[in-house]
Amino acid sequence: MLTAVTTAEEGEGPPPHLWLDQRGAGWLSSVLIVGVVAGEVEGMLAARVGPRPPAGARCPDCDGELRGCWAGYERWVRFSKRVERLRIGRSLCRGCGKTHALLPSFVVPRRLDAAPVIGAALELAAAGRGHRPLAARLSLPATTVRGWLRRARAQAALLASRLWRLAQELGALAPRAPPHDRPLAVLVRAVEAAHAAAARRLGEAGLPDRWGLLVAVVGEALLSHRSSPWAGALPAARIASDG
Ligand SMILES: [Zn+2]
Repeated sequence: MLTAVTTAEEGEGPPPHLWLDQRGAGWLSSVLIVGVVAGEVEGMLAARVGPRPPAGARCPDCDGELRGCWAGYERWVRFSKRVERLRIGRSLCRGCGKTHALLPSFVVPRRLDAAPVIGAALELAAAGRGHRPLAARLSLPATTVRGWLRRARAQAALLASRLWRLAQELGALAPRAPPHDRPLAVLVRAVEAAHAAAARRLGEAGLPDRWGLLVAVVGEALLSHRSSPWAGALPAARIASDG
């Protein structure tokens, strides 16, 4: 189970599990994304309980040890027509005493729709599909899908640069971006590069799929309303206050 995504500040390269200090980027203060491999998603949904703190999990505020897991709140997650309820746990930091919600990587913070669904839409749109056929294919309102695509396009260059940085930290070669590429194509290629680099460096076994990795790297900035993911966001599809 992947637990986070490292950044360059880690020094000696990524730990066995990836870990993302989202507070360091100023995005989310009390949500930790716990990577869930694809084969574990269904079991988690069936149990209706989100992930526990992974071994070695550290507090993003003080680097203290996170221990235990308590019931936090319940939230919905939608996979096209299917909607599931999930109990999101919280873990306590032994250092500073703060609690942190533990979100699985198939959930996008503050969003109803699951990461693989949003990711599939981004991928198909990058290949040239319009939002209406995409919405029909995903059984979702066209306005919802159009909103994702607009926001993801607005963030694509910034998010892609962060993903390429991660890919290079994990040993990938610097990208040679084709000129005049569409923003979503740039983003999708960066996601694939980061995921491939993580798989080569850390092995496939503990990795979530590439959309789960994207959530772990960028959190709610994926579909931020604002021009900068550092500015925070109040997404329209919020149904539970993650964090
Ligand atoms: Zn702490």
